[in-house]
Amino acid sequence: MLEVSQLTSGYGSMQVLWDISLSVKENEIQVVLGANGAGKSTFLKVAIGLLPLWSGDLKMNGTNIAPLAVAERVKHGLGYMSEQGIFPDLSVEENLRLGSLRTKTKSVGDQIDNIYERFPELKERRKSLAGGLSGGQRKLVGIGRALISEPKILLMDEPSSGLSPRYVNEVIERLAELRGGITLVIAEQNISFLSIADTVSVIEGGKTRFTGSVSDFNNNDTLKEAFFGIE
Ligand code: ATP
Repeated sequence: MLEVSQLTSGYGSMQVLWDISLSVKENEIQVVLGANGAGKSTFLKVAIGLLPLWSGDLKMNGTNIAPLAVAERVKHGLGYMSEQGIFPDLSVEENLRLGSLRTKTKSVGDQIDNIYERFPELKERRKSLAGGLSGGQRKLVGIGRALISEPKILLMDEPSSGLSPRYVNEVIERLAELRGGITLVIAEQNISFLSIADTVSVIEGGKTRFTGSVSDFNNNDTLKEAFFGIE
């Protein structure tokens, strides 16, 4: 569904990604693991179109999406959740409404209702400022906003960022509930997310160091130790 081959990119003239190669199948959950500064966020930004691709292939369902602007990629079914996620000074519903600008397939009200059905706690807090919610609920607002355009593939930049372990687990559980209806690509440095993943790609220094099933990753002690100091 998403095919990335020998992708390179960077900021200005500074190269950050040297060779990102991975593929994600329909309805799969793939975690893109890497330490701070490995290039995970940069890769997601290139994939959604916020940063230019310098070279390599970027295909969605066989279509070369590299020349497409962000809005065109969204129309093709690509979604993106940034690490920041939400606007704290806007209400829950205003945050959701912002996401709905990206599609015309349903009325804004219907789209928002779909999100409330999935995350009823957001409906209860719909008039509250998003910044006043608990860490876990703030993330749900970000996830809801990204889901509102009904993406086929959702690229998520560090859903664990800024969360205490308790809320990380809550977010992982909620993401697990999405399984089956959507393809998720989750950039993370927190290996807890592997519990809901089918496949994992490890990025180190802007290069794909490993890509394969979670069980292959778990059986590779050298890799696990080298990157995460775990056995
Ligand atoms: P993190 O977990 O910290 O978000 P990451 O794996 O997502 O890490 P990136 O944010 O993609 O890593 O950063 C990869 C490299 O690109 C780092 O060396 C970083 O300093 C650099 N970088 C990131 N953003 C910019 C920018 N706007 N301008 C220049 N360099 C940047």
